[in-house]
Amino acid sequence: MAQESKPALGWAARDASGLLSPYSFSRRVQKEDDVTIRVLFCGICHTDLHVAKNEWGNAMYPIVPGHEIVGVVTGVGRGVRGFKAGDRVGVGSFVGSCRACESCVKGYENNCPALLLTCNGVDCDGATTQGGFADVLVVNQDYVLRVPEGLPPAGAAPLLCAGVTGYSPMVQYGLNAPGMLLGVVGLGGLGHMAVKFGKAFGMTVTVISSSPRKRAEAVERLGADNFLVRHDAEEMKAAAGTMDGIIDTVSAGHQLLPLLELLKPMGQMVLVGVPTEPMVLPASAIVTGGKRLAGSGVGSVRDCQAMLDFAGEHGIAADVEVVKMEYVNTAMERLERNDVRYRFVIDVAGSIGCAAV
Ligand code: NAP
Ligand code: ZN
Ligand code: ZN
Repeated sequence: MAQESKPALGWAARDASGLLSPYSFSRRVQKEDDVTIRVLFCGICHTDLHVAKNEWGNAMYPIVPGHEIVGVVTGVGRGVRGFKAGDRVGVGSFVGSCRACESCVKGYENNCPALLLTCNGVDCDGATTQGGFADVLVVNQDYVLRVPEGLPPAGAAPLLCAGVTGYSPMVQYGLNAPGMLLGVVGLGGLGHMAVKFGKAFGMTVTVISSSPRKRAEAVERLGADNFLVRHDAEEMKAAAGTMDGIIDTVSAGHQLLPLLELLKPMGQMVLVGVPTEPMVLPASAIVTGGKRLAGSGVGSVRDCQAMLDFAGEHGIAADVEVVKMEYVNTAMERLERNDVRYRFVIDVAGSIGCAAV
C-alpha cells in the first residue's frame, strides 16, 4: 500500500497555445478511502481542448488534461470497499463534491456547486487537480466507476464523459422511451455516443450535422435513421415539428432557432455542448408550442455507473482512433478541425505508463 506521494509523469499544457509537453509531478498520498490507478487509456474530449487553450478563461497552468480514463487498480486504502488491485476501473469528469448540498444529498453530485473537476480543479489541499494524460491517478473511491470487462478498454474510455453526457439527459429528461424521435446535433465524440444510446433505447434517431460528408457513416455505421444537414433549409423545413427531444452537442456557436423548430409542441432540447460564444434565444421559439430548453453537465456517479452497465450489456463502446501520447498535439489540432471519427483515445500505458505503480 502506498504511503507517500507518488511521482507521476504526464503531458501538460503550459499556456494558451494549448501545446502539451512532458511534465513530472506528484499525486497525493493515498488516503484511507483512496484508490490508486494505473492509467491505461484516456480519451481526448473537446473540453480538454477548450481548457488547454483557456477558451473558458479559467485555465490554471500547467494543466494535465484528460477525464475519460480507464485504468487498473494498483492499490487501495484500508477503508476502500468494492475495489481491489487488478480491477478495471474508470474515472470521469469529476473526482469530488461537497457531499452536503441538496444536489449531493439527492445523488446529483454532478450539479454540486463545489464539484471537484478531474483536471484544472482545486483539491482540498489547495493543489490543482491533474487529469488522465498521465501514468497514475489517486482518486477517492466514491468517484471511481466499474468498467465492464466485456468492453474494449480503449473504446470504453470515452464512455466516462462523452457517454454519460448523452445518456444522463436522456434518462433524466425522459428522452429514452422506445418509439420517441430524438435529434442529435453535432456528430463528434458526444454526438456519436448519443446516437448509439438513442438507438439502444429503441428510439428513432436523426443526426443534425454541419458536415454532409458524415451522412453515410451516420446511417450505415452508427445506425442513425435519418440525417439532416443543418444549413440545408429544405431538409430542416421538411423535418419541422417532428422531434420529441434534441441533444445539442455542438462545440462552437450556432443558431438555436432552426433546431427548436424541429421539436414537436412540448418537445425538449438539452444543451450539452459548451461553445465559448453566447447563443441567441428568441423567446417565441420556446413560448410557441410550450417547448423546453435545458442544459446538462455530464451525469451523476449513479448515472455513470448505470450507463457503463447498460453499455456492457448492449456492447456499446466509442468508435476510436487510438494514438500514442507523442501524437497528442496533432490529435488536438485535428479535433479542432473536426477531423476525427469519433474520438481520439491515448494509449497512455503504451506511451508513458511504464513506471511501476
Ligand atoms: P467534438 O468531438 O469536437 O464534436 C463537436 C461537434 O460539433 C463536431 O463533430 C461537429 O459536428 C460540431 N462542430 C464543431 N465545430 C463546429 C462549428 N464551427 N460549426 C458547426 N458545428 C461544429 O466535441 P465533443 O468532445 O463531442 O464535445 C462537444 C462539446 O460538448 C464541447 O463544447 C465540450 O466542451 C462539451 N462537453 C460538455 C459536456 C457536458 O457535461 N455538458 C461534457 C463533455 C463535453 P458536425 O460535423 O456533425 O456538425
Ligand atoms: Zn469531457
Ligand atoms: Zn455538493
